[in-house]
Amino acid sequence: MLDGLFAIVGTAHVLTEDVDVAAYLEDWTGQYCAPAVAVVRPASTQQVADVVKLCEAHGIAVVPQGGRTGLCGGGVPLVDQPSVVICLTRMNAVRALDAAGRTVTVEAGTVLETLHAAALEHKLIFPLMFGAKGSCTVGGNLSTNAGGSNVVRYGTTRELCLGIEAVMPGGSVINALTGLRKDNTGYDLKDLLIGAEGTLGIITAAVFKLFPEPSARSTAFLSVVSLGAAIEVLNRLQDYTGGGVEAFEYMPQPAVDVICKVFPDTRRPLEGTVTTGILVEVASSRPQDAAELKDGSIRLEAEVMELFAELMEEGLVLDAMLAQSQQQRADLWKMREQILEAITENGPAYHMDISLPLAQIAPFVEAMDPKMSQLGIQPLTVGHLGDGNLHYALSAAQGCDWDSVPLETAKELVFSKLVALRGSFSAEHGIGQSKLPLMTKLKEPAQLAVMQEIKKAFDPKNTMNPGKLIPMGPIKSSAA
Ligand SMILES: Cc1cc2nc3c(=O)[nH]c(=O)nc-3n(C[C@H](O)[C@H](O)[C@H](O)COP(=O)(O)OP(=O)(O)OC[C@H]3O[C@@H](n4cnc5c(N)ncnc54)[C@H](O)[C@@H]3O)c2cc1C
Repeated sequence: MLDGLFAIVGTAHVLTEDVDVAAYLEDWTGQYCAPAVAVVRPASTQQVADVVKLCEAHGIAVVPQGGRTGLCGGGVPLVDQPSVVICLTRMNAVRALDAAGRTVTVEAGTVLETLHAAALEHKLIFPLMFGAKGSCTVGGNLSTNAGGSNVVRYGTTRELCLGIEAVMPGGSVINALTGLRKDNTGYDLKDLLIGAEGTLGIITAAVFKLFPEPSARSTAFLSVVSLGAAIEVLNRLQDYTGGGVEAFEYMPQPAVDVICKVFPDTRRPLEGTVTTGILVEVASSRPQDAAELKDGSIRLEAEVMELFAELMEEGLVLDAMLAQSQQQRADLWKMREQILEAITENGPAYHMDISLPLAQIAPFVEAMDPKMSQLGIQPLTVGHLGDGNLHYALSAAQGCDWDSVPLETAKELVFSKLVALRGSFSAEHGIGQSKLPLMTKLKEPAQLAVMQEIKKAFDPKNTMNPGKLIPMGPIKSSAA
């Protein structure tokens, strides 16, 4: 087996020594770690296909891996399953950038931030944006259908993708890198592979949409009177700017406090207590929005300030801090992007990545926060509020001991409320290993059954990232 791998990718790119493989076998959360037969680092689609064929012939599972920033244990092997990790990071070429057609073709191992830079060279942007951008890869982004802070305007990774190239079970290669915006020629295999977390095939390249670089931006931190009012503020901003809201991030006081505690250099955006803090960014690529007005201000910023003043008069917004420089904008975003690290450093927590219809966000938080408090739990919540996504992390309240927190009771309360409000228990991080029990318990049985059939049809030998995403056991007759 190893000789076969050496022959395909070269001995230097087959890692087997503990010291070499250690970093590839543990996920970002530190919760999942398991051995592998080898970690291979192919340099081409053909090499990926040959490795898949070889592993299948030996009955060994393959685990595709990108930047290992996934938060559900999807990109590392299972403890009891002999596996080869196929790490795609050597496949990192920008194969083509069509500035006129506003598309880019990149290999799966390209780091997200590298793609941002490649687009910017042409005054274009690739809008997928979140804290792990310096390490995650576009293959991982596609496989988890990653979201982040700009979904409110540009959609998830799925909506940004026009085509993919992938190695399927058995080693065949599908090449759908046409970049066509319209192509109704049968089942859309790209959409099956996106969000499949490597269980149906290995994505080796993709074509993405690009967008014009904004010529003006307005970034602010708002204190809004309530979470319900925040949705009204979002809609008013959307109407006023013609859909120009790029990000609308919920950052209530406990989240800001934990960031300031773990990263003491952080400057609080607003004085005093901010119950409903919102980091908002509006952008426009219209040259007239970037025009300098007589008083030296930029038109877009002046207009947004005008709306904030109106919203303050109406009592919806209590206070606002508008970033006055690139540095202030960068500081606001740094604060937002440090939150996961801050919560992780702060102490033990149970992380939930949930989504709800926008109208149900306030009722959910208003019902759950007091209940959590009664159980000795402090929710550390942030969220991509513009798309109804909350990262609801449960931590021990001040003076309470995590080990005595009734976590199962808290989870039961949250998930049953979520089901009642028709929300999702995994908004953007995926399922991997960690959310398989929830998948079994909460996913509609009829949908789960179809997914199992798809998995069996694509991957009858169960070689592709087995034990992730789809629970293969018997399905309950009705969702909990
Ligand atoms: C600080 C931090 C902030 C984050 N913020 C966000 C956020 O705002 N929004 C969000 O959506 N996510 C977020 N994440 C989660 C994570 O960054 C994303 O899930 C990301 O898309 C994973 O990419 P990756 O290259 O690291 O994939 P990996 O972790 O390596 O793999 C993730 C999954 O994709 C599969 N996979 C990887 N590459 C391929 C491929 N080429 N073909 C097939 N399957 C493949 C793996 O098998 C695994 O199941 C965050 C993570 C961190 C650490």
